Amino acid sequence: MAKAELMNYEQALAQFEVVIGLEVHVELNTKTKMFCGCRNDFGDEPNTNVCPVCLGLPGALPVVNKKAVESAIKIGLALGCEIQPTGRFARKNYFYPDLAKNFQTSQFDEPIAFEGGIDIEVPSGNVFRVNIERAHMEEDAGKLTHVGGNTGRIQGAEFSLVDYNRGGVPLIEIVTKPVFGAGAEAPELAAAYVRAIRDIVKALDVSEARMERGNVRCDANVSLRPHGAEKLGTRTETKNVNSLRSIERAVRYEIQRQAHILANGGTILQETRHWHEDKGTTSSGRPKSDADDYRYFPEPDLVPVAPSKELIESLRASLPENPQERRKRLQAAWNLSDLELRDVVNAGLLDQIEETVAAGASPQAARKWWTGEIARIANADDKDVSELAVTAAQVAELASLVEAGKINDRIGREVLAAVLAGEGNPAEIVSAKGLEVVSDDGALMAAIDEALAKQPDVLDKIREGKVQAAGAVIGAVMQAMKGQADAGRVRELIIERAGQ
Ligand code: ADP
Ligand code: MG
Ligand code: ZN
Repeated sequence: MAKAELMNYEQALAQFEVVIGLEVHVELNTKTKMFCGCRNDFGDEPNTNVCPVCLGLPGALPVVNKKAVESAIKIGLALGCEIQPTGRFARKNYFYPDLAKNFQTSQFDEPIAFEGGIDIEVPSGNVFRVNIERAHMEEDAGKLTHVGGNTGRIQGAEFSLVDYNRGGVPLIEIVTKPVFGAGAEAPELAAAYVRAIRDIVKALDVSEARMERGNVRCDANVSLRPHGAEKLGTRTETKNVNSLRSIERAVRYEIQRQAHILANGGTILQETRHWHEDKGTTSSGRPKSDADDYRYFPEPDLVPVAPSKELIESLRASLPENPQERRKRLQAAWNLSDLELRDVVNAGLLDQIEETVAAGASPQAARKWWTGEIARIANADDKDVSELAVTAAQVAELASLVEAGKINDRIGREVLAAVLAGEGNPAEIVSAKGLEVVSDDGALMAAIDEALAKQPDVLDKIREGKVQAAGAVIGAVMQAMKGQADAGRVRELIIERAGQ
């Protein structure tokens, strides 16, 4: 296949308006599958989590997973959607070897959630409204592995393996309305939107939300039309783009590819496309018309889902704060720069720092301990900070000991190590080991005199104005007092001694 030609990005934007539409599949973290009691864990030995229902054997009857319905409602509510009072499931008929039933149980004209929207901020700080058309429940298909050939695709493979463990795993598909007006920032908006969905389902605790494991998968639709045109252009749908960076790259690539074709009088085929991570390109998949006929019909084996008002309201009341708004709130409260906030978010430490501040530490101290020493120790042991045996309350106690001048940073790190070793709470450890900073003048003077005896010229230097000469004595005193001397007071006392 000839390499596609691309139009320069700025030129493409000058000529065309970009319209995007995103379909995101979220795999729920329920214990069992959508319509049967099989374990929802497809990492197990192939074809072990299967039963007559998810294998589509004759006569097997499905039952809806209540937890999955609640998760779907929570997602709908978090996206500002209406919740369907009674929603039927529908059979979407098509043949594929990974679809044992020859139809996928999905929802069609009565999705569980519809008509919502969220505001998405892109890196420039611009905010775009993304309207949600619907979120519906469906089941995942099995997994095919194509063996032989070198593309991993079915074409050219010698044989294929099928694992039905994933068949019947609950999915929520969230579909946006066409998004206009993002212009040059359409690729960033697409990625920021998927990031927001990922963060929301994670905060809701309804999905593992690991994109690299396929828990959140995105199909990106892109079309172009001349500025001012009313009719939407023909879209392509790039399937299964599974990292935020790839989404941004794929959308940008499609904009440039389509612009080149349109500007040269060509037409865009409505089709699915594959994203090639290594080459940074998309290639043609299968043609796809809007009228693809899946012979949807109401699923006769399942009763409609009819959540009570009480259930919906109690789920609404249980919703956590929107992650994007939470970050904004904490950034302002903690007075962080964008860069500092990003570091904290990337390190996954928002919860810990927030809890530590709630336990009484200053935001600066809480952030310093978690992103500094604690993250360092976790990283050295190849652990997640959440696996370390230290609580937010303990970090707050440690921070307040330092802030009150009872211990210094160096001793603080020693105390932290003792906490991690299970020796108790910071204050207990400090008093049990006698680690308080010594600021008693008598004890400090004794140590200073001892150090001065070994460095007799220091006082003269200070008298000559070389105050920095005190540093060597402070160091010696610190060493003699195992780091527990109040360094500031030691310095004052040395200068007094010099008669300055
Ligand atoms: P399909 O069954 O083809 O996947 P969906 O309705 O599930 O259709 O999703 C289509 C997605 O493409 C939606 O997000 C929709 O807003 C978006 N879309 C529709 N038309 C266009 C267009 N011309 N340009 C860009 N996006 C579009
Ligand atoms: Mg779709
Ligand atoms: Zn099953």
